Amino acid sequence: MHAPSPPARSIAAYEAVTDHDRLERLATLAETLADARVLHVNSAAHGGGVAELLRSIVPVCNDLGVDTDWRVMDADESFFEVTKSLHNGLQGEGAPLTEEMKATYRTVTERNAAAIDEAYDLVVLHDPQPLGMVPTLAGTMPEATVIWRCHLDPTAPAREHLEFVADYTELVDHAIFSRTVYETAIPVPSSSVVHPSIDPLAAKNRDLDEETVAIESDRLEPISFDAPLVTQVSRFDPWKDQFGTLEAYRRLTDRVPDVQLALVGSMADDDPEGRAIHDEVAAAAADDPDVHVLTDRSDTAVNVLQRRSDVVVQKSLREGFGLVVSEALWKRTPVVGSNVGGIPLQIEDGRNGYVVAPDDVAGVTRRVERLLRDDAHRTDLGQYGRASVRDRFLLPLQLVDCLEVFAEIVT
Ligand code: UDP
Repeated sequence: MHAPSPPARSIAAYEAVTDHDRLERLATLAETLADARVLHVNSAAHGGGVAELLRSIVPVCNDLGVDTDWRVMDADESFFEVTKSLHNGLQGEGAPLTEEMKATYRTVTERNAAAIDEAYDLVVLHDPQPLGMVPTLAGTMPEATVIWRCHLDPTAPAREHLEFVADYTELVDHAIFSRTVYETAIPVPSSSVVHPSIDPLAAKNRDLDEETVAIESDRLEPISFDAPLVTQVSRFDPWKDQFGTLEAYRRLTDRVPDVQLALVGSMADDDPEGRAIHDEVAAAAADDPDVHVLTDRSDTAVNVLQRRSDVVVQKSLREGFGLVVSEALWKRTPVVGSNVGGIPLQIEDGRNGYVVAPDDVAGVTRRVERLLRDDAHRTDLGQYGRASVRDRFLLPLQLVDCLEVFAEIVT
């Protein structure tokens, strides 16, 4: 196990974006948890929403006075092949899951659990990757409360994957899901719902001065910010459906000839499918100079793209929550997204973007075209997008919800 070092954060810095009552509530909850030691475990320090959340939550909790550590599992490609199969299987695809893969999963999770050489009161295991640590932790840390934080959409799982995972989820003390409808999908002793959120002070989301925007925009050449730009920011993953977005864009090119599409993706440390899917997407887009397939861009570059795009698209087929939606809305960019998982929690149809059925490529094209043709409408939706995220999906709110669950469990 290794310990990432996210940049320090001070809760006081959030005063500008959060009301006072919420910060007071956080201080009270932190006092309740002042004697508790908390450990978060996941499988990647970079790439994807879980790493993004932990990079902010862990330092803010420490600043609040809640002693919080973060460890990332040590594992190799063969383990991540198994956990990607679990991820895909729980989201509904019949991915292979052999006895050998199950044995790899058990060996690696047991080894990582045994490597924890400190005692904690609360251990939060994020997603299916570290879940197999539960039986070992019951022996090595019997006093600890173990929470499983499920970030994915488990509502239509493949049976074999569900059965394998359920042997572990039944052993945790509590689970946290991102939506109410996820709570009954997997057997757990008890559960709560916490909506994820974005960190308005992170480099990805903070307001930028004009000079920074200009410098980063130049670095993004050949993308032009003088012609219409549609962007999707996602890992290269089958559920993110970059091919569907590409198809929606192609249908648009007859009607908006100078439109450009940016498909921006990162290679998460724990996602073995990323490279192959990137290569397929890049090959499919190779004949069109107005499609830009970008990888591993800095947080500031992603910030500028989400901010300066005319429309952001999130054409996922499944989506646990989809932080990228709130990230774009916070920057006043309307989002056209599929009606799956956490996306419709964030997009209010016709108010800050549009929600479309996941197989409705023509619907995506129509909504994007409408937005591109009407500057005033886009501005209105963008303004409301900022307000909608401010009220519901900024970090301090998620922290209140999280610490309430923790406080109830450990006291
Ligand atoms: N992300 C990024 N660069 C990329 C692609 C994704 O920084 O090229 C970030 C994105 O901004 C977001 C996270 O990775 O913060 C993805 O989280 P989300 O919940 O949308 O999806 P997940 O990857 O967890 O399925």
